[in-house]
Amino acid sequence: MRNIPDYHVHSSVSPDSHESYSNILNIAQKNNLSELMLTEHFEFFSGSYKSPKFHEEYLDNYYTEYCLLKQSNPTSVHVGFGIEFGQPHLQPETAKKFLKKYPFDYVIGSCHKIDNIDLSMYNYRTINIDRLCSTYFSNLLGIVENHLCDCLGHLDLFKRYAAKQGICINISCENDYLQKVLEAAISHGIGIEINTSGVRYGIGCMPSLDVLKLYSQLHGEIITLGSDAHSASDLQRDFDVALQYLKEAGFSYVAHYQNRTPKMIKI
Ligand SMILES: [Zn+2]
Ligand SMILES: [Zn+2]
Repeated sequence: MRNIPDYHVHSSVSPDSHESYSNILNIAQKNNLSELMLTEHFEFFSGSYKSPKFHEEYLDNYYTEYCLLKQSNPTSVHVGFGIEFGQPHLQPETAKKFLKKYPFDYVIGSCHKIDNIDLSMYNYRTINIDRLCSTYFSNLLGIVENHLCDCLGHLDLFKRYAAKQGICINISCENDYLQKVLEAAISHGIGIEINTSGVRYGIGCMPSLDVLKLYSQLHGEIITLGSDAHSASDLQRDFDVALQYLKEAGFSYVAHYQNRTPKMIKI
């Protein structure tokens, strides 16, 4: 799998990881990984809430850390400078300012929160799933229509949190909101990722194979593979499952990015 880059990796720059760059590079080299994309978190919030963590100094620090890593990288692993924006449509002007200021190679657009509440905090036994679904997808639509990312992250993330509470959610391909998001992404040149972290939670990749097939039917082409590793041992984890999804949905390429421009790699 040397030629399949991992496009979703967090280090201790992100608040929810303790992993060092040196560990990530060591494991990447051991696994013969040719390329990985660092995609540290940056969360946006609605209303007047001011995050104590996510502000410009955080991004300045991330960029400094990345430059030091590039200077001292003793390995043959190419490391890209990416970011995972959570809910960037809530502050589109700020997000656009950051996209201008920092030389990102790649931007994931994710929805981790609704009404500033993390999706992991909802009670999936009592919540109205249809309503959650439509709100979630309208958030993704906001990210796409403001053109605030290169690929959408973990398209059906909430199913992972629901599964943790014993609730199985399968997004139907008939879902109008899902179709709208995919069509809008395709028309804006925005791709999707196959996020393999769901396999670690026993629910398969995100999105599901059915959604990937729908993406193919709608003539979507841009797909990246991401482990969403928060520790180095998860780099490229379960990529064999994602590759099987790609094969079954009829895709023979994955994308990688430089300066936010995609190029295709044959798999
Ligand atoms: Zn995420
Ligand atoms: Zn992530």
